[in-house]
Amino acid sequence: MGQIVILDENTSNQIAAGEVVENPASVVKELVENSIDAGSTNITVEIQKGGITFIKVIDNGCGMEEDDVLIAFERHATSKIRSSNDLEGILTLGFRGEALASIASVSVVELTTRTKDKPYGSYVRVKGGTVEEVREAGCPVGTTFVVRDLFFNTPARFKFLKKDSTEAGYISDILNRIALGNPHISFKLVNNKKTVVHTPGNKDLLSTIFSIYGRETAKECIKITYKDEMFEIEGYAGKPSIARSNRNWQSIYINGRYIKNKTITAAIDEAYKTSLMKNKFPFVVLNIKINPVLVDVNVHPTKMEVRFTNEQDVFRAVYYAINNALLSESLVKNIEIES
Ligand code: ADP
Ligand code: MG
Repeated sequence: MGQIVILDENTSNQIAAGEVVENPASVVKELVENSIDAGSTNITVEIQKGGITFIKVIDNGCGMEEDDVLIAFERHATSKIRSSNDLEGILTLGFRGEALASIASVSVVELTTRTKDKPYGSYVRVKGGTVEEVREAGCPVGTTFVVRDLFFNTPARFKFLKKDSTEAGYISDILNRIALGNPHISFKLVNNKKTVVHTPGNKDLLSTIFSIYGRETAKECIKITYKDEMFEIEGYAGKPSIARSNRNWQSIYINGRYIKNKTITAAIDEAYKTSLMKNKFPFVVLNIKINPVLVDVNVHPTKMEVRFTNEQDVFRAVYYAINNALLSESLVKNIEIES
């Protein structure tokens, strides 16, 4: 008799969750990205015990239709693409339709949501992938997710969680990054009933930097604006005086998505080469707009990695964007004039 079986849906969702849901911070990232895709202008995240026992994400986005609230928890269920053709040119943060299925398979999730054209909304509770309750609910327009007891049914995963304060730190880091990439949205993080971050959502990146990193940092920032046929780059470059000994102060966005990329960090290093000592890394927030067809975001389930069709062009644009900003403050030598 054959030995191979097809795994049941819950098991395969739990396996898939291993790729997307590593810790409470990844739950927050996925939920907040969904809130952004829903067009929210206000997003509040409340956590308790480092997000391990409790995460609540409240948004004022478009909400979900009654007919969609259950299917949203299915794997590969998404409203953001229709076919593989749409994978070229993605402008939403989500598209894989995996996050809700994954999160709900390893926790207890409550969803309350309403669209603007309905007088009432919906409530759903899913525990370990099983729907336990669905009903109508009175609620404001928008969506609220509550995620409790992460990894309650996957002890092997639970064991790898760190101290509450460490997990809370990861959450605040990812939320800060997302907030810096979306100055038009007001983000609030409440940890154990205390507000730790609150960004203005006034479209101004510098005041967003101020609300996250404080006055001393905001004061030492130089504006970056750059445009060529392929790229539009905006952001802030920190003066060498606020450089640090690691890269944690660098945030890079492609079309609004927070990413990590070696070519871009190399271009940043090159632009600061003459103004920073070795092993010092500048504060940089860089929003890069590029035709989405020229970048592949479907490289990894967490979508933090991207591939560019032309790495060299990206390098050059980032280098000049930062170099021009530093030049305007005369922080680097103008090589063209000197030679
Ligand atoms: P994806 O974001 O890749 O589409 P998810 O599993 O994260 O997949 O979400 C599934 C679907 O649920 C989304 O495509 C969207 O239609 C809906 N959804 C999830 N969160 C929200 C939200 N905060 N507001 C409105 N719709 C949402
Ligand atoms: Mg999503």
